[in-house]
Amino acid sequence: MNIPLLDLKAQLVPLRNEIVARITEVVDSTRYIQGPEVEGLEREIADYCGVNYAVGVSSGTDALLVSLMALGVGRDDLVITTPYTFFATVGSIARLGARPLFVDIDPETYNIDPEGLAEILDNKNVRERVKAIMPIHLYGQCADMNQIMKSADAYGIPVVEDGAQAIGAACPVDENGRTVWHKAGSLGVCGCFSFFPSKNLGAMGDGGMVVTHDKKLAAKIKILRNHGAEPKYFHDVIGGNFRLDAVQAAVLRVKLSRLAAWHKGRRRNAERYNELFGRAGLVDKGMVKLPVAIYKSRDGAAEEDYHIYNQYVIRVRKRDGLRDFLQDNSIGVEIYYPLALHQQKCVKNFGCVDRKFPQAEKATHETLALPIYPELTADMQQYVVETIARFYS
Ligand SMILES: *Cc1c(COP(=O)(O)O)cnc(C)c1O
Repeated sequence: MNIPLLDLKAQLVPLRNEIVARITEVVDSTRYIQGPEVEGLEREIADYCGVNYAVGVSSGTDALLVSLMALGVGRDDLVITTPYTFFATVGSIARLGARPLFVDIDPETYNIDPEGLAEILDNKNVRERVKAIMPIHLYGQCADMNQIMKSADAYGIPVVEDGAQAIGAACPVDENGRTVWHKAGSLGVCGCFSFFPSKNLGAMGDGGMVVTHDKKLAAKIKILRNHGAEPKYFHDVIGGNFRLDAVQAAVLRVKLSRLAAWHKGRRRNAERYNELFGRAGLVDKGMVKLPVAIYKSRDGAAEEDYHIYNQYVIRVRKRDGLRDFLQDNSIGVEIYYPLALHQQKCVKNFGCVDRKFPQAEKATHETLALPIYPELTADMQQYVVETIARFYS
């Protein structure tokens, strides 16, 4: 059996006619940059995320970059994030001359450790240089926004959510003793999404979105995404070309109508893996540690999208051997991420990396992402788990 890590063809087949028809409309309209398709998508994403404003941009990376630009992050400022994320999080900070200030991850969720964050903010000298906090909602599960917002709000530091892997994921927040669920991106000053094809909502090329409740911030980002021009050909600020194409917006609007069903399919597959691994005895033997959906296990968790499983990531013994064995058996797997960011050559030179991040480093040696896309069948999952069991037998 051949099982790819992600099968975009399986997603495309039932949507192909609809998508081609929508692309054809854009082709015939000759409105290729922004325009009504992009505005339509912005409205729909704002509604979906429960925010007032959404601004379409050229990629998830540019969503992060333009958000930090709009907040005035610049040379020698510090931005708190984790060393266990896709490079874009840190790249966007560094490109503005600012420096990442890393906080280690929670080993269960791989998201920023809220206690580590609170600790670092206790230091007044450091705190005064921190211009933003960028939690990542890794693999499709929200970071502990409840605690993060408490820490950030105590000092008035803006939070930019890197929700690139988590569009639609729900996050429980304590509001006067009551649990209220919010969507990823709607709790910080803004949230950033990526439409890279491998994300749960993927374009047919690059694309991204910034969502926010803040009218002024949305207006600023709209100006920055178009070279800072307001009005046209008058530039009070320097922006860039961070615009979203109409063709991508048209594709995304078709796919957005299926997103809830896809999230559900991924969650069903995650539960099926959990069961299969349990039955195979791999968890009890300590060979495999399953991903933890922390919000599901909380009392009264009624919200469905507690985890949207952009990735289903297990921790395993003899990780590299298992990866090779699965690949030899035609099962697509991937390591997200093999090297932590504080260990990257270009980040080592930043000089602010004098602390240790044992959990991030441990994760780089132990984690493995398995196929989890919604079209995956029970037979395919059975084969994946059997093959893993064979490796350890
Ligand atoms: C994918 C991703 C990005 C970047 O998105 P692009 O659209 O590829 O630029 C940023 N952060 C995280 C955590 C991501 O997974």
